[in-house]
Amino acid sequence: MADPLILVLDEGTTSTRAMAFGLDGALHGVAQAQLSQHYPQPGWVEHDPAEIWDRTLACAREVTEAVGGAGRIAAIGITNQRETVVAWDRTTGQPLARALVWQDRRTAAQCEELKAAGHEPAVQAQTGLLLDPYFSATKMRWLLANEPAVADAAAAGRLALGTVESWLLFRLTGGAHLSDASNASRTALMGLVGHSWDEGLCDLFGVPRGALGEVVDNARELGRTLPEWFGRAIPVTGMAGDQQAATIGQGCLEPGDTKATYGTGAFVLANRGATIPRSAHRLLGTVLHQLGGQRHYALEGSVFVAGSLIQWLRDSLGMLASAAETAELAGSVADSGGVVIVPALSGLGAPHWRPEARASITGMSFSTTRARIARAALEAMAHQTHDLAEAFAADGARWTRLRIDGGMSANDWMAQDLADMLALPVERLTFVETTALGAAMLAALGAGFFRSLEDAARAMGGATRRFEPAMAQEVRAERLARWHRALAVS
Ligand code: ADP
Repeated sequence: MADPLILVLDEGTTSTRAMAFGLDGALHGVAQAQLSQHYPQPGWVEHDPAEIWDRTLACAREVTEAVGGAGRIAAIGITNQRETVVAWDRTTGQPLARALVWQDRRTAAQCEELKAAGHEPAVQAQTGLLLDPYFSATKMRWLLANEPAVADAAAAGRLALGTVESWLLFRLTGGAHLSDASNASRTALMGLVGHSWDEGLCDLFGVPRGALGEVVDNARELGRTLPEWFGRAIPVTGMAGDQQAATIGQGCLEPGDTKATYGTGAFVLANRGATIPRSAHRLLGTVLHQLGGQRHYALEGSVFVAGSLIQWLRDSLGMLASAAETAELAGSVADSGGVVIVPALSGLGAPHWRPEARASITGMSFSTTRARIARAALEAMAHQTHDLAEAFAADGARWTRLRIDGGMSANDWMAQDLADMLALPVERLTFVETTALGAAMLAALGAGFFRSLEDAARAMGGATRRFEPAMAQEVRAERLARWHRALAVS
């Protein structure tokens, strides 16, 4: 096969994309389709699993044709929005209910009950996760208890439950029911130690063990596509959750390597190698990847509001013409003039975990301008990241440099401010689609093109731009003091 390509299916929250990569990491084609968001009640967020599949297949076919046909595609990799739950009938392959999306809060009361009964410390010790509706287990329980078609299928032994990579693999292969270890580690049904679903956790959350697929490595042959989809059977050889894939795509393969993705929210993952991550500062422990049965772990911190603050200034306040304009505005003033923004528009995530906190803009005077507010908004990203850095350090995972990606990382001013406030070098890949690239690396490894993930990353990874810290210590200290004062009253 001349120039084999890897087809990646990148299943996001708002859109699905298919991308074809060469074994040198070059991008050969992209197709994208939006996904419908359903909000039947406040706090509920649903997707249509049939739509996810149909649009993913359509994008995959479009890219495959554009690059010269299925004969060019050597292997397929999948990466996906994590925690989202799909229920389907394993005999017909048809969905039984809407997918409950990671953002869905409908199981908050169930989580509170489990917390009140004292289960959180044991769940955290075993899974690295907290009792929060974010994770899959309570969503699976909700579907069983509230969707008759799901309960009926369970009674008849036909129920399949899984996260989105599991659903796509089932449809692609016409019946392989597997979940990769990185996605499985976000369900709260698998321990950080122990290679499959945990019976005790399944019992605690009321999820039938038999409805779950087998937990497998992130890179190996997972199945072959039905010939009807692409005209030939293509092996699927890699799968990973989106944040783990981005960590791999950034080349964060050594213990201590850390990446931050700045999109709607911000997600930081620090590679911990074979060490099981334990947090005393409400960070999450998660499987980074499992290869040949061996696990590597990561410590994770999520900040709920990052790029969405800029979007809010642009769309709700009408203060900005574009998100990118913030870089020029911030650079046009020497400082924020004392303005501090606490972006707690939907409470505060790690390391504060204060759902009741609300956003604030403080320190304004008649000298406050649009530019100073834009600057304060970008400064808030470094402030939030600084607090995460302290939590990681306190948990024994001090950062020595930070690799950034995501839509907002394109902002040079923010990248420099991060380096300044963290007092660390910040690196940004020229090619920012690191999530899809990470899935391509895994699939290329699983297809046998490379001997190790390190080899794949060397061959497929790209050039980086480095931002060096240059801020005086007094300026940094003063900014942090102001930030912490504002945070205390939010
Ligand atoms: P997601 O994957 O979460 O949908 P993206 O990675 O596409 O998000 O990033 C989009 C977010 O980043 C938006 O919220 C947008 O406001 C913000 N953003 C994009 N470009 C810039 C920029 N140059 N400066 C500041 N913010 C930006």
